Amino acid sequence: MLKRTIYAEEHEMFRQTVRAWAEKEVYPNADAWREAGVVSREVWKKAGEEGFLCMYADEKYGGLDTDDFRYDMILCEEIGPREPGLFIGLHNRIVGPYLQKFASDAQREKYMPGVVSGETILAIAMTEPGTGSDLAGIKTRAVDLGDHWVLNGSKTYISNGFLAGLILVAARTNPEKSHEIGLFWVEDGTPGLSRGRNLKKVGLESQDTAELFFDDMKIPKENLLGDARSGFKTMMMNLAEERLIGAVGFVARAEHAFNITMEFIMERRAFGRPIGTFQNSRFKMASMRTELDAAWALTDHCAHAHMKGELSAEMAAEAKLYTSEVEGRVVDECLQLHGGAGYMDEYEISRLYRDARISRIYAGTSEIMREIIGRGLGLDERQRN
Ligand SMILES: Cc1cc2nc3c(=O)[nH]c(=O)nc-3n(C[C@H](O)[C@H](O)[C@H](O)COP(=O)(O)OP(=O)(O)OC[C@H]3O[C@@H](n4cnc5c(N)ncnc54)[C@H](O)[C@@H]3O)c2cc1C
Repeated sequence: MLKRTIYAEEHEMFRQTVRAWAEKEVYPNADAWREAGVVSREVWKKAGEEGFLCMYADEKYGGLDTDDFRYDMILCEEIGPREPGLFIGLHNRIVGPYLQKFASDAQREKYMPGVVSGETILAIAMTEPGTGSDLAGIKTRAVDLGDHWVLNGSKTYISNGFLAGLILVAARTNPEKSHEIGLFWVEDGTPGLSRGRNLKKVGLESQDTAELFFDDMKIPKENLLGDARSGFKTMMMNLAEERLIGAVGFVARAEHAFNITMEFIMERRAFGRPIGTFQNSRFKMASMRTELDAAWALTDHCAHAHMKGELSAEMAAEAKLYTSEVEGRVVDECLQLHGGAGYMDEYEISRLYRDARISRIYAGTSEIMREIIGRGLGLDERQRN
């Protein structure tokens, strides 16, 4: 089994803190949250009190001024597999960096304290009913009316969409040029913003997923992130980190599935012996262990690169592609090793199996990841003309 070397002693101490906290504040509520389709606001505030939210934020906003990606990896590894509804990875490493790196001082001053304390939960709204993979095809339109912007359109599948107090919305600012996209901070309660259903899904039952509608939604000028035309470029810059934190969560879920399956196959007996001792089980577990170790090695390699500011879009895509595909294979094999029990809701593996299916779709599908990697190899016809 691979011995990961990415963490130092202080990270492992942090892991123990997170683990103890989650046992007390998170997992006891998991069933109720699954039933409700959403986690509580209180747990976000408790996470904020622990200092788990956007640690990189300046101390004057309540942050720790510590930008060490490994603490977020640990949060993701520990909490993600057992309670994916508390989507701290999205808050800290998908949306938070836009506020930290690209926002104006005034925006950071206004929003960061709430984001760090857990009062303000973050979401990002790119996908629309008509387009997801092809971001340049978004239809939501932002019109500059001199002293403010007006947004019209809709978004769908937005994670944290119901709980969010602040949503970063992508909208076209030039109808003639598809790549001219602006990013706008939209506060909960803004007139013209409405939410549709909390969407029912195959898995991730406690994670809220919203449809958003914008009807002549008036946005103050100061809520534009950066300039009105370069949102597309900004999103591309952040997508590598989004895919990497995703990859960490995918391997962590697969690892958890592997661990609970190890326990199950040593307890469950058939033909007079533990099912884990059949050659088939042993071979399956050995293959899975190998794939998991390879997935961790790739993920940790990318995390190191990211911490040095050297993570390329192609490497992030490789990590996202590989880990999500490994996760899919692992949860499927693990469910099979559980037999009929694996199909029962009361067995955790059934939930892990359902939760894992999205990993090959969101944050860019496996096909789009292959496109990015293939383009990096110079194999796109358009690059040759
Ligand atoms: C639970 C959940 C949470 C989500 N959270 C968010 C969120 O918080 N914010 C947000 O903005 N979005 C979110 N999404 C949206 C998600 O990122 C998109 O669903 C995803 O990018 C795919 O887009 P799509 O659904 O429009 O599929 P499509 O783009 O319509 O793709 C359909 C199929 O066509 C394939 N395809 C598309 N283009 C190509 C191509 N060029 N070559 C080969 N195959 C191609 C795809 O791989 C896929 O198999 C979420 C989705 C889900 C289900």
